[in-house]
Amino acid sequence: SKIRIYSLAKEVGVDNHRMLEILDGLGVQYKSVSSTIEEDTVELIKQILAEEGTDATGGQVSDPTPDTEVAGETPEPAAAPQPTPAVQTAAPTPEPAPGQMPSEGRAVPPTPTATAPASPATQGAAATQVEERPTAPAEREVPHRAPVVTIMGHVDHGKTSLLDYIRKTKVAAKEAGGITQHVGAFEAQTSKGRIVFIDTPGHEAFTTIRARGANVADIAIIVIAADDSLMPQTREAIAHAQAAKVPMIVAINKIDLAQADPERVKTDLTQLNLVPEEYGGDLVVVPVSARTGEGVEDLLEYISLTAELEDLRADPKGTFSGVIIEGKVDKQAGVLATVMVQEGTLHIGDFLVVGERYGKIKAMTDTGGGRIKEAGPSTPVQVLGFSDVPESGEKVVSAKNEHAARELVDARAGQRRDAENARVRNRLTLEEMMGPVGTVRTVNLILRADTQGSVEALQGILARKESEDVKINVMFAGIGSPSEADVLLASTAEATILCFSVTAAGGVKKIADSKGVEIKSYRIIYELIDEVDRLIKGTSEPVF
Ligand code: GDP
Repeated sequence: SKIRIYSLAKEVGVDNHRMLEILDGLGVQYKSVSSTIEEDTVELIKQILAEEGTDATGGQVSDPTPDTEVAGETPEPAAAPQPTPAVQTAAPTPEPAPGQMPSEGRAVPPTPTATAPASPATQGAAATQVEERPTAPAEREVPHRAPVVTIMGHVDHGKTSLLDYIRKTKVAAKEAGGITQHVGAFEAQTSKGRIVFIDTPGHEAFTTIRARGANVADIAIIVIAADDSLMPQTREAIAHAQAAKVPMIVAINKIDLAQADPERVKTDLTQLNLVPEEYGGDLVVVPVSARTGEGVEDLLEYISLTAELEDLRADPKGTFSGVIIEGKVDKQAGVLATVMVQEGTLHIGDFLVVGERYGKIKAMTDTGGGRIKEAGPSTPVQVLGFSDVPESGEKVVSAKNEHAARELVDARAGQRRDAENARVRNRLTLEEMMGPVGTVRTVNLILRADTQGSVEALQGILARKESEDVKINVMFAGIGSPSEADVLLASTAEATILCFSVTAAGGVKKIADSKGVEIKSYRIIYELIDEVDRLIKGTSEPVF
């Protein structure tokens, strides 16, 4: 009978990556490790593994819950036998085959494929990487890092409760014991390793960080209450995760309630083209209760599984880079900033540069409040040493010494002034506005209207406006006035916000102005369509 790819991998004792490589080698199409494969294929895979000397039917799978695994980053088991270079040069394809492009919402890692249906053992990642980058052998050695997860969803659907439950049950005892102060992130220890949670739920926080050009979250959990199903902010959260191309896992919460209807949630998701696994799609949906804890263990397991597929890696020995998660002023300590280490390692005494400011790290604490001297990738740390409060989403780099830090800051200030001057001097060139000649241009839009009927009507009209040269990408369409989150989303994607029979509140308009986002409101549908036509032609006059 059919079996899911990850189940088969578990059964035969190879990791998911290896399994996907084998499937690629066989030319088998799949969407994700959740996809099912045919019995014949299963037999073939077992044969291949047996030939390789891996005991395909052997008993190394005896323990389905590998609690023995040490928490934290485990070095990856060699994913594929190192190919012999002679066989390799055949015809490596640097791009994944079209059928295996990451699907929207839930990305499949771009598993390198070889065109020749050679024995899978002789094809694999290494050859492709050698083609692209001569220094690639080092690439394989970059260790895995823990996933960073954000929780989003509609108000009152249980985001905070879920975070609280995970914190209570999965944060090391010494941390849970004390009153953990809010630093914007916490680290959960699970049987599959460390998972870092961003502690400010909601897509505003997520997009605020993205709006400054940083990507912090690797995986988005969309929480949907089983008694309420999809609500406006659920759809917003989904749009934000999709815009960031962050894989999503849906947690259907409150399944302990008598009126819980998880099936309805799944059907509603299908309407958004997000098809749960059980319905043949590739969206992972996990029923949970933040109250009783039911399903939370499964959710954590799915997070680890998704992280494994995403193949998240960072070099602790590389050049440091990070992102500010949160900054605040403490009456006693002074300025405290939570930094997420993304690459490299942070040490006490390092000089950090954020925007046009710098500081020297005087002290560092982990998310449990414990003093630490250094912090590697995917570690949130609270840093003491900035003179003024950095904002969430700002990028952080390090400098060798104070002199280097000051030079970098000066250079940045200079660049900013030059850019400001240039902006005053030059209007946008046609090419900047239209994109290079001969390429497909995308018009990014966010739609807001008074009723669901208007939203759908507008979407229908817009779909017909698309052509070979211009793609219309409606990033989000919703009922009601545009929100601050819409503006942030628009600013990350250079989208225009078009409103029909609704207008933006003053505060939202102000933010839009400051971010250079256009919000245009219409009461007559043809005027809105005229504007779309102008955007398509690229002749829309910038409003000053
Ligand atoms: P948020 O606005 O998404 O952060 O939602 P909260 O975590 O504040 O939860 C909103 C309400 O739902 C609170 O009263 C919670 O106690 C309740 N709640 C959250 N999760 C569950 C659950 O799994 N079961 C039940 N019965 N109630 C829950």
